[in-house]
Amino acid sequence: MTDGQATQGLILKEGTIFDRSVAGRVGFQLPPVDVPKKYPEKYRRETPAGLPEVSELEVVRHFTRLSTWNYAIDLGTFPLGSCTMKYNPRINEEIAALPGLSEIHPDAPPELCQGALEVIFRLENALCAISGLDECTAQPAAGAQGELTGLLTIRAFHEKHGSSRKLVLVPDTAHGTNPASSTLAGYQSVTLKSSSNGTVSVETVVQAIEKYGRDIAAMMVTNPNTCGLFESNISEIAEHLHGIGAQLYMDGANMNAILGVAKPGDMGVDVMQYNLHKTFSTPHGGGGPGAGPVAVRSHLAPFLPSPRVRLKDGKFVLEYPPESIGKVKGGFGNFGVLVRALTYIANHGSQGLKKVSRNAVLNANYLRARLQKHFEVPYATPSFHECLLTDAKQTKQGVKTLQIAKALIDRGYHPPTVYFPLVVAGALLIEPTETESLQELDQLADALIDIAERVEKGEEKFDQSPIKTIVGKVDEVGAARKPILSLDDRP
Ligand SMILES: *Cc1c(COP(=O)(O)O)cnc(C)c1O
Repeated sequence: MTDGQATQGLILKEGTIFDRSVAGRVGFQLPPVDVPKKYPEKYRRETPAGLPEVSELEVVRHFTRLSTWNYAIDLGTFPLGSCTMKYNPRINEEIAALPGLSEIHPDAPPELCQGALEVIFRLENALCAISGLDECTAQPAAGAQGELTGLLTIRAFHEKHGSSRKLVLVPDTAHGTNPASSTLAGYQSVTLKSSSNGTVSVETVVQAIEKYGRDIAAMMVTNPNTCGLFESNISEIAEHLHGIGAQLYMDGANMNAILGVAKPGDMGVDVMQYNLHKTFSTPHGGGGPGAGPVAVRSHLAPFLPSPRVRLKDGKFVLEYPPESIGKVKGGFGNFGVLVRALTYIANHGSQGLKKVSRNAVLNANYLRARLQKHFEVPYATPSFHECLLTDAKQTKQGVKTLQIAKALIDRGYHPPTVYFPLVVAGALLIEPTETESLQELDQLADALIDIAERVEKGEEKFDQSPIKTIVGKVDEVGAARKPILSLDDRP
């Protein structure tokens, strides 16, 4: 770690919490055990676990200091493409923190958690209405787990009908989770090349069908896709797939662009996942928490994960349908995320959700319009919720996407997504979301234009950035040649 410049007079030599450990120091004390010890002796550890010995105040200060080094949506625009880093309204947090919702035991019997079951029931219904699909499960804990759940549902459907299909078609613009989920579900993924306009053509799908026929279990389509473009052939693609009994899976992580405007069910989609943490504003990043509910057409519903929440005679009950693929997550998924999503949906209403997606699209196209003179735009079609640029103009001066991203950090921003989608060389994927105001969009555009102009004029050294952060540029060669793999290796 290279220590950089102090921004707020903070202590820079923070180190790790282990560096602060002093033998015998305690953060809290437990009373002596007054119940029988149940664990067999052979499972007890012989030496202490080697945890840091620190006081409560040291823990609080260490992590509070580290938190001030971070970038967050509450500090500024977070234009990370494909991740939908939108503002999380505080009302969501207030509702999710209500003790009746936040303190329920995960194994509480249905009679004692009717309200929580109603939250799940109403959320699943709202997600059916938004997708134009018939049934929904809120159980999966992330977009990727939703993909796996959807594919396992498809698999169970095919197996019931005596068909042992092997392949899942995945366009080359897809998120890496798509082929990974296909593999986990026991399928082999076949990559489809997208056309020069950034979307999948009908001919490409027809050719795959001619080649693989009824070996195809499903195709996964992200819509709008990761280039920020609408797959306008989706309905025709669905017809071709259905013609051979294959299913159309839609990766719905980008629903923020079409909420309340277009329904996947109307496009011929059989099953999709939502990413609640993106589209419905739950705080996310750093690996969680998330929720990836799956909505399906009725022919796939019997296979959804169990238990299902149903309303019977005015009471919410749990059902375990016999053909279900079983549980995919303990409890009922990430319940706090579900509460926030329902709050967000109820707060906006159907007209409000339509406005969300219209503004998300407007904001992305506004940035694109301001930036297109300064950065190469790879596809001529207007953008949906994110705008895709490349470093083609800047590479001529020897400056690449990675350096543009680091220079943006020095201008006070989290960088956009870089080098993704993989099909676009030097990609910069910018997703402003609808929650940024015109002033914020202009500030971000100004920062990017400033970088482009300085590259053009050769006015700035771009190989040193970031220089204004607490942790500076990482020594990449040193990290590869002399890796620090344990505390003892540190200089
Ligand atoms: C974010 C994303 C995923 C993965 O979702 P996780 O919740 O991170 O598992 C999948 N597909 C697309 C298009 C995404 O943007």
